[in-house]
Amino acid sequence: MNKPKMAAEKSASRVLMLLSQLERLNEDHKVSNNDAIRQITGKILHLLQTQEKTRKEVTSKGSGGMEVILSSLENTQDLQTTLNILAILNELLTVGGGRRTGVFVSKGGTAILLQMLVSSSKNPPANEELMLHIHTLLVKVGPKDRKFGVKSRLNGALNVTLNLVKHNLQNHKLLLPCLQVLRVYSSNLVNAVSLGKSGALEIMFEIIGPFSKKSTTLMKYVVSVLCVCSSGMNARRAVDRGYLPTLLSIYQDWHRHDTRHRHVVIRKSILACIKNLTNIKLGRKAFIDANGMRILYNTSTECLAVRTLDPLVNTSSLIMRKCFPKNRLPLPTIKSVFHHQLPHIAAGGPVAQLYNQPPGVDDVVDESDENEATEVDTENETEYEDDETEDLVTPRPDESPLELDSISISKRPEGTADHDLVCSLGRLVVDGGVNGGSVDGLQDEGGEQAVLEVPDTAALLPLHDPDLYLEMVKSTRSVPAYTEVAYPDYFGHVALNLREPILERVYGVQRMKIFQDIERLIHSSDILDKVVYDLDNQSCPVTDNGESLKFNSKFESGNLRKAIQVRKFEYDLILNSDINSNHYHQWFYFEVSNMRPGVRYRFNIINCEKSNSQFNYGMQVLMYSVQDAINGSPHWVRTGSDICYYKNHFSRSSIAAGGQKGKSYFTLTFTVTFQHKDDVCYFAYHYPYTYSMLKMHLQKLSALRTAQIYYRQDDLCETLGGNSCPLLTITAMPESSSNDHISQFRSRPVVFLSARVHPGETNSSWVMKGTLEFLMSCSPQAQSLRESYIFKIIPMLNPDGVINGNHRCSLSGEDLNRQWQSPNAELHPTIYHAKSLLQYLRATGRTPLVFCDYHGHSRKKNVFMYGCSIKETVWQTNANTSTCDLQEDLGYRTLPKLLSQMAPVFSLSSCSFVVERSKEATARVVVWREIGVQRSYTMESTLCGCDQGKYKGLQIGTSELEEMGAQFCLALLRLRRYTSPLELQNHNSHLLDTENDLIDTRGIPNITSTTTYVLEEDEAAFLEEVDYSAESNDENDPDLEPDLQDNLALLDPSSDSEFSQTE
Ligand SMILES: [Zn+2]
Repeated sequence: MNKPKMAAEKSASRVLMLLSQLERLNEDHKVSNNDAIRQITGKILHLLQTQEKTRKEVTSKGSGGMEVILSSLENTQDLQTTLNILAILNELLTVGGGRRTGVFVSKGGTAILLQMLVSSSKNPPANEELMLHIHTLLVKVGPKDRKFGVKSRLNGALNVTLNLVKHNLQNHKLLLPCLQVLRVYSSNLVNAVSLGKSGALEIMFEIIGPFSKKSTTLMKYVVSVLCVCSSGMNARRAVDRGYLPTLLSIYQDWHRHDTRHRHVVIRKSILACIKNLTNIKLGRKAFIDANGMRILYNTSTECLAVRTLDPLVNTSSLIMRKCFPKNRLPLPTIKSVFHHQLPHIAAGGPVAQLYNQPPGVDDVVDESDENEATEVDTENETEYEDDETEDLVTPRPDESPLELDSISISKRPEGTADHDLVCSLGRLVVDGGVNGGSVDGLQDEGGEQAVLEVPDTAALLPLHDPDLYLEMVKSTRSVPAYTEVAYPDYFGHVALNLREPILERVYGVQRMKIFQDIERLIHSSDILDKVVYDLDNQSCPVTDNGESLKFNSKFESGNLRKAIQVRKFEYDLILNSDINSNHYHQWFYFEVSNMRPGVRYRFNIINCEKSNSQFNYGMQVLMYSVQDAINGSPHWVRTGSDICYYKNHFSRSSIAAGGQKGKSYFTLTFTVTFQHKDDVCYFAYHYPYTYSMLKMHLQKLSALRTAQIYYRQDDLCETLGGNSCPLLTITAMPESSSNDHISQFRSRPVVFLSARVHPGETNSSWVMKGTLEFLMSCSPQAQSLRESYIFKIIPMLNPDGVINGNHRCSLSGEDLNRQWQSPNAELHPTIYHAKSLLQYLRATGRTPLVFCDYHGHSRKKNVFMYGCSIKETVWQTNANTSTCDLQEDLGYRTLPKLLSQMAPVFSLSSCSFVVERSKEATARVVVWREIGVQRSYTMESTLCGCDQGKYKGLQIGTSELEEMGAQFCLALLRLRRYTSPLELQNHNSHLLDTENDLIDTRGIPNITSTTTYVLEEDEAAFLEEVDYSAESNDENDPDLEPDLQDNLALLDPSSDSEFSQTE
């Protein structure tokens, strides 16, 4: 047992002995030593090759072995000695992992090798064995040396290796390590360019070839060199040399012959080269010219069945999407179809810019290379693992036919004689609108009175009344002068008593949809391209009794601009821009009829603007079936399968993309199977809530008033479109006229609420409905809440936007929630008057205790709040907080905390209290800074659903939203208990002034926002500090002591002259 060990020790010490001999010989530089050195190195090599443990001995810490070996290498002029030492190094670095290589690099080994490579190339022919040894070592050392790229270039090694490759194309033994070294060189971008100039690509293309079982290793190395060398500036060179078609045919060849998928790595690398070349415009053109679309489409469809080939399919799909010829949207202009003449147009403002453009620059295809590559690469390509899908719209067996006779309700539009259901059912038309004229949707053309069987929603929906709704519609003024009424709004929506889970995404759905889109190019003869609905063209739709679906959006809150039948059961849909704007669309609401039941229809909304959407994370669209409503199920229902949201090939003009070039639109695609024949269905982005609906609800609510409830509805102002903006005041009547009761009444703090400044965020209206219903209810808690506060509520800050189907803006083409700093009385009347009311409250010592603006969030789940905190804003900007002893009242946190305890949809972890510069003109920030409301919030409700709490995994419905509105009230009631009486009296802004001073002395750098163009959510987490140094709050606080008369005047602001004062 002892013998082997003894031998090992003996040999190990022998190696050390040899090393110290070598060291001595190195020191006295005598030529006569050459033979001895050659012998010693030969012996060391032999020991290393035969005794594994000696390697450890040589490289162990403190042995100095590596230094001795390297200095011998540097000093020797003898070829055999050099070869011996290189072989020693190869032995040492082959095992032992990174540590030994690390030692080698740290002792300067890389440079010695590179210098040796260059110097030995100067006396050609270079010794092949030497070159082989050096390159084999470089392959090992290169990736471990962070400066390898620079060292190799500065030593002039790049071309030495390249030349070796060039002259040894048949010598695979030498070729392979050289190719590997080239690959390492060119991972440095400068080296890659330099190698490109020296002809690296041309040499690679001499080696690369069709499929062959023999040279797969060689191919792997060649393609990997090509891959790194074909990016950036070299792409142009490669395309000019005509290499793209070559790569395509090589790819095809490997695809055809690699039937057992053993060389997916090579195939993927070839695709990666193609991808690099198509990053430039010329490359994309060459790809199309070389029939690349069809080649990659065909190869990919053949790969679809094999899951391990997914990387090939994904890269192919990426290339095809990139090369898909860019089109502009099929529209005469991207400006809104509707135009509203403004009272005045601010010079240089968005509307002036929009309408002063020369006609040619409206929507141009911009094939700029900018951003393109990175944009495609960073796109969300995630696919979920689930293979199961469930179509939620499978036909029900107990389908009952619709009795057409009983529901014909209105006169037909003139000239329509066909018998589709819309006509049989009758369009719900309100004549005359606000201009008087007899209104009746209930008269048939022939004068016969027809009876409509209205589903009994009124019994289920206490605040709904179809007749009252029609009555309200009459006084609603829309820019297109709508006369039709959408059935869902007329019948009403009863919340579905059914769980609607967030959809799990089907694996590969996006890929499948993209392939279907690509087929439009490949099988262009299948494409119908038939325009079936077009607001830009009044003579459309042409009634041809064909099989096409019929569309309609000409009703309050409707939004659909154009529908194009692409294939038999597939439609491209285009949304209308917000009025007086050329973008901002996202909201949709339209009617579909003439459908075939049991057929899968694919709908694509092709001009979406946001880069991602909750439609990628389980959100479905909403559908309302009139047949179902008549049959007793008047519900908006989450529907659609194969839903996904992805970038498409329609290019977005930089004019509509905030000046950014090379942007594309996004497609929202969903598939629906209709259940009934002759149905009329409606689709919407979210549960619709029209302005007329609000008016109806308010009228119903006012009827709930009791002797204890003070309820008052005023017109805050008239909007640009000529509609009134309701302002509500709700509180409890003083119990008596006794001093105590009057005093209590006077001391009630004000709570100021608003909603729906953004028309597309209909969820905020449903939350507001829940709040209002709670406030008007007769429960003891509601009474107690009314006794605690005076509520000032503006339930719809943007009626015009809501009525006209806008998503974001008002008729001025501007986002009203960016106008709070200096609202214009003419252009932003609702904001102007809301702010004036707040200023009035402040001036009369009634600064609200709470301000909350209800919004909807399109990219996040749950409900949450944004508040305002100096302290957190300072932290976020990395100011030195240890020297910044802000004494901030943390009262702003109480309400969100209470909500998270009480409301199941509310998520505290999603809340943020940072004040971003991009948000400085929002209601939340202005009310906090200028009015001095410490508890100033934006409350964001998800459009999708919840990922926590009681409703985790479910999509949100109107009952959850309304519940949230009621819970908000309960939280306010609890807040009353948490708030000290002192604060209630003195919650004015002295604290904030101190904070302002503090901020000034901190000297936070003023970072001005470079983008004023806001397409992101209202409140996306975009951290940018606000600089207060330019602010001065010179408003006086008159500290008035209002008497009861003033209190009553407060409840009726329009009667007060101060209210209408300008800033
Ligand atoms: Zn919003």
